[in-house]
Amino acid sequence: MTTVPVRALRRRLLLAFGLIVAICAAAITYYVAQARQHVGADYTAMVADVVRAQEDPERLLTALNRLEGGHPDFRLHRDELGELLLRIPRRIENIHIQVLRSDLPDRDYAPLLEELNHVERRLQALLSQFVQVQRDGLDVEEIARLRELGLEIEAGLAWSYSELNHLVQQASADQRRIMGWLTLAVVWLLVMVVLAVGAVMLMLLRLQRQRDAMHHQSHTDMLTGLYNRRRLQEVAEREFARRQRHPSPLSLMLLDLDHFKHVNDAYGHPVGDAVLSSFAETLRHQVRRLDTVARMGGEEFAVLLPNTDGHAARQLAERIRAATRAMPLPEEAGDHRLTVSIGVTEARQGDGFEHLYSRADRRLYDAKEGGRDRVVSSDALTEVTPDGTCAARLRRNAQ
Ligand code: GH3
Ligand code: MG
Ligand code: MG
Repeated sequence: MTTVPVRALRRRLLLAFGLIVAICAAAITYYVAQARQHVGADYTAMVADVVRAQEDPERLLTALNRLEGGHPDFRLHRDELGELLLRIPRRIENIHIQVLRSDLPDRDYAPLLEELNHVERRLQALLSQFVQVQRDGLDVEEIARLRELGLEIEAGLAWSYSELNHLVQQASADQRRIMGWLTLAVVWLLVMVVLAVGAVMLMLLRLQRQRDAMHHQSHTDMLTGLYNRRRLQEVAEREFARRQRHPSPLSLMLLDLDHFKHVNDAYGHPVGDAVLSSFAETLRHQVRRLDTVARMGGEEFAVLLPNTDGHAARQLAERIRAATRAMPLPEEAGDHRLTVSIGVTEARQGDGFEHLYSRADRRLYDAKEGGRDRVVSSDALTEVTPDGTCAARLRRNAQ
């Protein structure tokens, strides 16, 4: 199973979160724009028509007054009245249709539609009187009757339109308020969604961190911070697999501190711990980045060396042995000379990790048997003594 590192996961989650926030913001903006447009469009046209229609009663009254006053330009005023009498019913019809199509509540507009119907009937009467007057000529009585009817129409129209204007304004304000609340609710909902998604992502990140920490712990030695035996084995198996594809030398060294029990006994366990940590640091310092250093347990360590033959591994082991002798120890153990025994071997054709390990272990045993503070390599089958000379060829395990 492949695991995603926390940093990569954080990047991906941030990207996903940013995308969700952007989508939510776009959705809100689109919704608010649409809602505003819709609310505006619903009543704007109707308000404009009503306002225009509200001029009709006044014009009607003016036309009638002029007619009655025997205005000098009589024919002109008669035509104006005629034109008004044709236009007003058309306007009433138009407004009637718009009211029926609107979302205004029936019970609110029913009385004013009734009044408009009434006005229409009176308009019919006024129109036929007007036609008759035009045909028969005007007399004072006729004009007075026309005016009386006109005044009734004017009053009915003025009331109806003013009521309608009031209704439309109120409905428009109501609708805007409802849309405002609805928009607020949608924004809150999306904010909640964003927060919930953010919380889930944070949880995922925390989980991944915990997993990484557990993974790290399961592969790390707590005292020294080096890899543990399990991790070394994993790395080694990977190296063996790689070697099958790209043949290259691979070496292993096993290291065991000499008479370490004495360090504990003489200076105490905590000092022993500090010495182990210092030794781990020395090892880290001596190896390359591609080498793997592990604490196998107790005072036993291992270094896996890819692309390294037995000769180079032995040279490194020698450097480590010298560095161990020169390593500064905690103050309490200042007069102690720490030494290490090292077994080194290079992987051979057909080897697996187990073969490599047991061969290095045998060489380590040889180093202990040979007097400690030395390196024994299975390839040269020589031991390197503290004074640096390659001494007796080891007879045992000479395979
Ligand atoms: P040799 O040269 O044969 O290796 O002798 P030695 O004393 O090093 O070997 P032995 O196996 O007899 O003793 C190993 C000691 O390492 C015993 C144990 O108390 C000590 N040890 C193991 N793990 C730890 C640890 O984590 N901290 C400390 N302070 N000591 C440890
Ligand atoms: Mg030991
Ligand atoms: Mg030991």
